[in-house]
This record gives sequence, structure tokens and C-alpha cells, in this order.
Amino acid sequence: MKIGIPRALLYYYYYPLWKTFFETLGCEVIISGKTTIDLLDKGIKASVSDICVPIKILNGHVLELLESDVDYIFLPRMMSIRKGEFFCPKFMGLPDMVRHSLPGAKDKILFPNISSLSDDISDDKLYYDMGQRLGVTDKNIKESLKEGRKVWNEFRRFSKEDYTALEAMDYVLEGKLPEKQVEDINITIGLMGYVYDVYDDLVSMGIVDRLRKMGVKVITFEMMDEVMLDRELDSMKKRLFWTFSNKLLAAGYKFLKDESIDGIIHVTAFGCGPDSLIGKLMEIDSEKLGKPFMTIRVDEHTGENHLQTRIEAFVDMIYRKKSKYIKEA
Ligand code: SF4
Repeated sequence: MKIGIPRALLYYYYYPLWKTFFETLGCEVIISGKTTIDLLDKGIKASVSDICVPIKILNGHVLELLESDVDYIFLPRMMSIRKGEFFCPKFMGLPDMVRHSLPGAKDKILFPNISSLSDDISDDKLYYDMGQRLGVTDKNIKESLKEGRKVWNEFRRFSKEDYTALEAMDYVLEGKLPEKQVEDINITIGLMGYVYDVYDDLVSMGIVDRLRKMGVKVITFEMMDEVMLDRELDSMKKRLFWTFSNKLLAAGYKFLKDESIDGIIHVTAFGCGPDSLIGKLMEIDSEKLGKPFMTIRVDEHTGENHLQTRIEAFVDMIYRKKSKYIKEA
């Protein structure tokens, strides 16, 4: 049986778990290709106009899988991974939106309801109903998830050694060790952004590699310890409702206080409601604390040159700020 997984949204956080799970069940896993302009165009045509760019991209990936010969497409309904917090509503309604708006999708989508108390979403009970559709036993589900959990834990452990989600995936799934990171580190930047923005080729246009080429060490929220991020949130007067937005904000506040972080870049895709809140909070607090902060908002029309110019100018400004500080000291 062939299971399609869209290379979008939480693919960049949970793919090692899901791939190992389905393969241990005996399925073949097919992922959609990288995001291209053409794929995005198809996603845009299939989406309501005011939805955020990552959902338009997701629609493009699902359409690509629908055109292939997969038996099912895995698109879980992500509800919650923290008590009292939820995923952005677009995640919760996603399976319904896709099933009822993309031709041919209705009977092809596998959508277990994912509700858990931690980032670990490998509780077998969550997947039993889906197992019935696939004709596998609860025991098969349990054993396959156990394998998936092992790989995912390794993926998370490796991410926390300052490797990107893509590098950690290559390591745990392909056994490929990442190339050496920046050796001559001059500055460190905290990069805020959802995994599906930071690692999507079209949204962030390889921002991590671009920064590394400029001698910048990059830290993202998934490289940080979840317990530490939770502690950071505890010190806030009020948490947001959305877990991944909370993770970004917690990382942002940590970056603001951490003297080893020279500046913060927030990558956001057009149409994201939660991000407009996070961006504003960060803007206010970074100004108060005098930490350089820049937002890069990407839409369907953003060009590479624009992005490159902005990050070069930002990095250059931090270099100048740092060298002035060193001279004065
Ligand atoms: S958090 Fe923002 S970018 Fe992500 S799905 Fe929700 S609205 Fe879209």
C-alpha cells in the first residue's frame, strides 16, 4: 500500500516518526516534491484567497500526491500537544478543508485526531481507527509506533545539537552526517519561524544556509530544549492559545535575554494571524532591550534578491554594532 505524505506543515517536525511508522507497517511512503512556484500556483488556485501561504503550499502538495498513484494521503488532524493549548485552527480543520475542496481527496485522506500532552504524538490509541481503515491490527500499530518513536526521539536529540530539522532528518533516516557547520563564527542569530516556513525552499529560500555562508551561527526553536522553552513561557503573564506560536515566542524571549544572541530574525508567511501577534510583541520588547530584530514576511511574490539584500543588511548592521562595541570596550 502506498501512503503519500505532503512535504509541508508538520512534515518538518514529525516526518521521521510517520515514515518509520508506515514503513514498519509494511507500507511504501511517498513524499511530494519540494515546493516550487508551479506547485504553489496550483495550491493558490485550489485555496480561498485569504488563507495563509503555508496552507496554500499544503494544498499544492496534496494535489501533487493526488495526481500520483498513492492509495492514501496522511493528513492528521493536529489538535493539541499541550494541556490547555491548541494548534492554530487551520490545522484542526485541515482534513475537512482538503477533503471537501480538492477534487478526488474525499476518500483518500487518512486523518487520525492527534491530541497529546507532549510533543510525543506516538500514543498508539490515537491511530487505532486509522489502522482499521488500513486493515492492520492494534498490535501492528503499537509495534510500528514504537519503532517510529525511537527514530523521532533520535531526530529530536540530534536537532538539539544545533542541527537543522533537515539535517537531523537526513541523519536519522539516511545516516548522512551533516557537513561541518560554520567554523569561523562571527555572530549568532536567533531565527524565529515555524518549521514549515524556515525549511520550505520557497518560503524562506534557504535562509539558514544563506546566513551560515555569511559566518552566522543560527539557532531555531527546535534546537532548544522543550522544558526550557516551557519554563520561559511560565515567566510570561499570559500564554498564547497556539502551541507552536508559544514555542516561537518562548524562543524569542530566550533570544532577547541571551547575550550570546546578537540579533533575531522572524520569518513569517503572509496571512498568518498568530504571527502578527508574535511579531508585534517581539518588536516592542526587542526595542526596549536594544536587541536587533527584523521580520521577513514572505508572500507569493517575494523574490530571492529582496531576501538576500535584507539579510545582508541586517548581518552587516550587527557586525558594525559589534565592532563598534569592541573598539569602545
Ligand atoms: S500558524 Fe499561521 S502560518 Fe501556521 S497554519 Fe496557522 S495561520 Fe497558517
